[in-house]
Amino acid sequence: MEIVCLDLEGVLVPEIWINFAKRTGIKELEATTRDIPDYDVLMRQRLRILDEHKLGLDDIQAVIADMGPLPGAADFVEWVREHFQLIILSDTFYEFAHPLMRQLGWPTIMCHKLETDGSGRITNYVLRQPDQKREAVKALHGLKYRVIAAGDSYNDTNMLGEADRGILFDAPENVIREFPQFPVTRSYEELKAEIRKGSLRSIP
Ligand SMILES: [Mg+2]
Repeated sequence: MEIVCLDLEGVLVPEIWINFAKRTGIKELEATTRDIPDYDVLMRQRLRILDEHKLGLDDIQAVIADMGPLPGAADFVEWVREHFQLIILSDTFYEFAHPLMRQLGWPTIMCHKLETDGSGRITNYVLRQPDQKREAVKALHGLKYRVIAAGDSYNDTNMLGEADRGILFDAPENVIREFPQFPVTRSYEELKAEIRKGSLRSIP
């Protein structure tokens, strides 16, 4: 039994915060963990900025829906689901992922959660579990699944290491250099080829 676990942002959809900042023209929202390494400080800042611009969840979801998945992502997801079980493991929030999941045919996703008040204002964020991508792969191993995983960034490398086969997709050079144990892919065709290699079955 084989399950494919995929990261979301940078693999199937654009980076949500960066794209949201570009589309809304709110420059300060372009900050990432590279600028502010403390994730909690970064998230509190993001929620404060959304508040200042009076952006509620509905406005944010409309912008995210407009981003759409990356070109070819929907077909790729269909291919994976035809041959494997698929779980998306992401550090985004269900409320942000929702409009994009619609465009990918509602695959299973495990991520984090936002809290809103009655007016749709985002009041807080809740991380479901620390290191949740790795924990998910461990749990799937406990259920006797083989896991093939792919992701593009630092927050994926624990998941890739835990999986039976870990694959980098369109990763930045520094990640590729630091984790030479993972094969590097730059297109869905290359990723399919590595997933086939990782499978114990013969996948068309
Ligand atoms: Mg990513």
